[in-house]
Amino acid sequence: MLIDVTKIKKIAGKAFPFKLEAQWPPLELQGETLSFKGPLTVEGTATNTGRIILVDGTVSVTLQRPCGRCLEPVTQSLQAPFSEEYLHVSEKGQDLAGTDEEKLVIFEGNNIDLAPQVRENLLLELPMSGLCRQDCRGLCPVCGQNLNVRECDCQPVNIDPRLQVLEKFLKS
Ligand SMILES: [Zn+2]
Ligand SMILES: [Zn+2]
Repeated sequence: MLIDVTKIKKIAGKAFPFKLEAQWPPLELQGETLSFKGPLTVEGTATNTGRIILVDGTVSVTLQRPCGRCLEPVTQSLQAPFSEEYLHVSEKGQDLAGTDEEKLVIFEGNNIDLAPQVRENLLLELPMSGLCRQDCRGLCPVCGQNLNVRECDCQPVNIDPRLQVLEKFLKS
């Protein structure tokens, strides 16, 4: 996801609109696989604010991930705000008039690659889990049957596994 800043670097103060699209491979997040349906897009503007190039915009994507309860695939559309400040490596260490240099992303050459920050922003905005529906009944903890599809004959297990350990301990 590259922005060519050759022109932007030459003109201070002007906002250059851009729209980038890319197909992304699935992301692994804490054992969960997030796959992308269709392209991921970033739309916004890139502005040369003097030394820094400010990239502002919105990341839009449609994700497919397992339902947090029954593991069936769930589709989620997500829009994440995007705002990052980029500094060319040659400007590093210069006086940046009050800008927090730690927050700047350093780039080389004439292209800014948005991909790492897009990924970060996306993961920040990601809801904790996706449910196929609000009242998803999940999987039977005993036999693994998807309870949305049909009931099973297992005895309901309502005991928290941590309490079970305690119960064993109290009995012994
Ligand atoms: Zn579900
Ligand atoms: Zn069962």
